[in-house]
Amino acid sequence: MPLEIQLQLHHNLVRVEQTIADAAQQFCRNIEEIQLVTVSKGRPTREIFFAIEEGLRHFGESYVQEAYLKIELLPTRDMVWHFIGPIQSNKTQMIAKYFDWVQSLASLKHAQRLNDQRLDHLPPLNVCIEVNVDRESQKSGIPLEEVADFAKEIQQFPRLQLRGLMAVPAHHEEFELQRQSCRLLSQAYQQLKMLGFQLDTLSMGMTGDMVAAIAEGSTMLRIGTGIFGERK
Ligand SMILES: *Cc1c(COP(=O)(O)O)cnc(C)c1O
Repeated sequence: MPLEIQLQLHHNLVRVEQTIADAAQQFCRNIEEIQLVTVSKGRPTREIFFAIEEGLRHFGESYVQEAYLKIELLPTRDMVWHFIGPIQSNKTQMIAKYFDWVQSLASLKHAQRLNDQRLDHLPPLNVCIEVNVDRESQKSGIPLEEVADFAKEIQQFPRLQLRGLMAVPAHHEEFELQRQSCRLLSQAYQQLKMLGFQLDTLSMGMTGDMVAAIAEGSTMLRIGTGIFGERK
């Protein structure tokens, strides 16, 4: 059974990497500028081991309680952990302790807490601002028109390093609609850069929309089911 899971993961990963390579070529993107983050939420530590054996190093988790146990079990050297889930105030201390990145920052209060709780011996916490690109009422993230002001505030925290923007667009099957959502985030990112923000991370593209995200300039893909299979 473990062997079967390992072979399946290898097979899935080859396919995802081929999709990324093809999309990069089609849309004239430098593949070196596209970082793959493997989303391991809901997956047992054993499966993450297999992913590490495949050479993957960046992992995304959404639930602190689940994640920190895995992070403690796995070798920390050259592993990079991204928090991509909803932030709760009573979890910011754990997030600041265990993670290298927080991609789902959307509140000043959480920024303040993460800044204050980031331990001195660790480098600044890398953060992305989560943007609600499709204005979905049930979804977290700040509205597009507030991104610049929010980014200015975030920059004042010495223990946070603002790296860019992240979004989870509305679900669309159609490629052109996927591209439209991705383009909104991409435009906001370019505007921030024109305002002088030093950014290098445009985090968009999941299993279902990675090609559209690459077409629109994504520099960071967050892929879960494409690599591990369907979540139960
Ligand atoms: C679960 C999740 C992903 C991965 O989604 P898949 O469709 O499994 O690739 C990416 N980003 C966020 C924020 C997620 O919660």
